[in-house]
Amino acid sequence: MERVDISQLFHEVERETALIVGRKRMTLRNCLPQDIIVHGNPSLLYSIFRNLVDNAVTYAGEGVAVEISADEKEDFWHFTFSGDGVGIDKEHLPRIFERFYRVDKGRSRSLGGTGLGLAIVKNAVLLHGGNITVQSSIGKGTTFEFSIKKT
Ligand code: ATP
Ligand code: MG
Repeated sequence: MERVDISQLFHEVERETALIVGRKRMTLRNCLPQDIIVHGNPSLLYSIFRNLVDNAVTYAGEGVAVEISADEKEDFWHFTFSGDGVGIDKEHLPRIFERFYRVDKGRSRSLGGTGLGLAIVKNAVLLHGGNITVQSSIGKGTTFEFSIKKT
């Protein structure tokens, strides 16, 4: 556990995904304030943001717009990661944080994931004293909200 600057960490995610984001004509809007400082595990924290961006790139469709923002509330930072795109059916929504759970196995098998990403995201959030929820509707898009404890 160490001091982690999430604002900087997200810039790293932006740099490392710039190529695929551009290839999908996706817009990634970074509305995070400067100096989001938490006490945590840098690689686990990185995996939260990286997996969410990777999923948006892989599943949301072409030309989508995704936005990340954060608010400070007492001991927590609250993050909203939302984007338009294909969305997730409510039948699948309660299970997407389970290990190996994937929507539309036929289609997503060709997209090549293992179904571990969101399980890792959820575990990382819980380990940092927070929680994560998802809202989605077909054809409209998907919003993840999660919190991370500051210390
Ligand atoms: P991995 O992350 O291990 O490579 P994965 O991406 O399939 O594999 P998760 O990240 O856990 O696994 O995601 C689970 C499923 O949720 C995905 O297979 C996909 O069907 C769906 N999903 C995740 N994010 C989105 C999104 N932004 N839009 C639409 N569907 C999504
Ligand atoms: Mg994934």
